[in-house]
Amino acid sequence: MGSGVTPNSKLSLRDPVSLVPGVGPARASGLKAAGIATVADFLVALPFRYEDRRRYGTVAALRPGEAATLLTRLSGVRGARMRRGGLKIEAVADDGTGAVRVLWHNRYPSFVKAAESGRPVVLYGAPATTPRGELRLENPETEFFDEGLDTDPVHSGRIVGIYHRAGATGSRTWRTLARRALDRLGPDVRAASLPPAQLLSALAEAHFPTNLESARTARQQLAAEELCVLAARIEDKRARLAERKGRVLVADEALRSSARRALPFSLTGAQREAVKQIAADMASGRAMARLLQGDVGSGKTIVAGLALLLAAKNGVQGALMAPTEILAEQLAQSLAGWMEKADVRIGLLTGRVRGRPRKALLEALERGEVEVLVGTHALLESPVRFRRLGLVVVDEQHRFGVAHRARLFHKGDTPHVLVMTATPIPRSLAWAIYGELDVSVLGEKPPGRTPVVTRVRTEEARPAIYRFAAERVAAGERVYVVVPAIEEGGREVAATRETAARIAAAAPGIAVEIVHGRMRPEERARAMAEFAAGRAGILVATTVVEVGVDVPEATLMVVENAEAFGLAQLHQLRGRVGRSSRPSWCALVVGGGVSEEARRRLEVLERTADGFEIAEKDLEARGPGDLLGVRQSGLPALRVADLVRDLPRLGEARREIVKRREAGQKIASDLFGYESPPLASVVKGNHRKGTP
Ligand code: ADP
Ligand code: MG
Repeated sequence: MGSGVTPNSKLSLRDPVSLVPGVGPARASGLKAAGIATVADFLVALPFRYEDRRRYGTVAALRPGEAATLLTRLSGVRGARMRRGGLKIEAVADDGTGAVRVLWHNRYPSFVKAAESGRPVVLYGAPATTPRGELRLENPETEFFDEGLDTDPVHSGRIVGIYHRAGATGSRTWRTLARRALDRLGPDVRAASLPPAQLLSALAEAHFPTNLESARTARQQLAAEELCVLAARIEDKRARLAERKGRVLVADEALRSSARRALPFSLTGAQREAVKQIAADMASGRAMARLLQGDVGSGKTIVAGLALLLAAKNGVQGALMAPTEILAEQLAQSLAGWMEKADVRIGLLTGRVRGRPRKALLEALERGEVEVLVGTHALLESPVRFRRLGLVVVDEQHRFGVAHRARLFHKGDTPHVLVMTATPIPRSLAWAIYGELDVSVLGEKPPGRTPVVTRVRTEEARPAIYRFAAERVAAGERVYVVVPAIEEGGREVAATRETAARIAAAAPGIAVEIVHGRMRPEERARAMAEFAAGRAGILVATTVVEVGVDVPEATLMVVENAEAFGLAQLHQLRGRVGRSSRPSWCALVVGGGVSEEARRRLEVLERTADGFEIAEKDLEARGPGDLLGVRQSGLPALRVADLVRDLPRLGEARREIVKRREAGQKIASDLFGYESPPLASVVKGNHRKGTP
């Protein structure tokens, strides 16, 4: 085994992977780059598929293109140096039934030596026919055996695992190392979901299965262990948040009636319920940690506004953060009117507020004269100093990262925190991402909304769509035309320009503005303002308009190359229209070469306006990354469990964890590096300075 470790010295799952014999410094650092630091990390990197090598084929039975495993010997070995230093090696494999040429590229001299030794060798690969009409094996998986051993329990004569390569570590090495690690594992292993002995045998089966069925079972057991650890981690976070003391802020009758007087409309039942839950949180003495989830257009802003009002009337300041300056401006605008009526002083801080006005604003904030400050995430960074920050609201939370969210809760004076998101997420995923938060859902839209009539159209329909757009504008309405944002270079800019030119040609006389990600913020805000005010009837945009922008007069959304978007994202885009009682439309234009299947995927949007149903469909079709956008999604990094297939069991795992916690059980998993924190430290970590 080439190492000083004796076969029976015990290895722990928590040991560094370098303690596995055969893992030298170079390999260890290659593995580390792949996120593998410990023996456990190494062993949860399971094969991504298996190959049945229980029966050997014969040279006589080889067929071109069909993979086979041969147990054979080599002769006539010849090596030639290749240009980049490795060796090209040729040999003949003869197993008694016939002979076949074998060719390897890029091998080392040690390989030649082994090939020349005449030892038995196992070759696995599919032969191809050469131009001269003979069969040849090129770069087969190759393994030399010691004389006298005609099968080897690791790489052949069994079902073997095929692994993702990590640096220089390919499947063969992976199996060798996994075997060594498993053989050396000591029996005292901590497992969260099953008896330790079963965990160990599940690991062994997953790497070296007896049969494919047992491999599947083993994988499920390991996934369950991982889910159990995920559930425990979520519960830890939840417990930590629950320990945060919060200022007691109450909504008395005076406050309620001034809110009623100021509000521009009466709340929907769902809004009222959410406000009630928020008010209860803020009066509870614990710091609120709540997620307000509601489809686009469900009216989250006003709910946030009422929470901010409640804070202000209790003498503490509130911060309202949006992911972009455009959104921050919109939020400030839609809140300022009625909040000022309720005597709340509101300020807007974005990158565009500079010089003296900025200085004055920051001073007023520090004196406590500005009671609600709206802006981007820069709000929570110095030199912005609040006098008494009591509530932080984050709009479109999914656009910020998780790390960002964690920081919110750990601001020195434990403010109440309300995060809002318009991405409907299937429950199982929501649990994984936001599980530590209490949740309010706005499942109902403000009255008088007609559903957005949605149609999937091909490019031929474009002229008709643009004519219709011109009609809408003539009727005093507004039209968005969205093109996919293309990351590289100026394509994005070009795409918006081309589209704008096409529209100008088809609908002359209509003012068109363009916004895209490569514009300077001032320029973008100017274009948005032109559109919002109606001086431009059509806005050609990349997905910068995706979230939150509120222009009630907009009634038509045209999405170009709609096939490039996820359903949830299209649903978000569609949410930009249908924001008033006027009828609204959404045209999803698909490119010429789009498959029938891609079209059908989009047709879901013709049928339903239910964001959750759409999200489920997206999750099935494109996986969670797409659903949650390119930003850090907050999804846990899972090694064995599958986010789509296994997550539905997370709820179950959480209930189990809660029960076991309540029964005073400790939970630990050496495999996934988890140990329940001692209760005392949970409490200490949260009773930091600044409780009221
Ligand atoms: P979102 O949940 O997408 O943030 P908004 O808060 O922007 O939704 O609200 C969408 C639109 O609905 C806004 O124009 C808002 O003024 C309006 N709105 C919100 N609540 C009500 C309500 N209860 N009655 C009537 N209109 C409402
Ligand atoms: Mg919003």
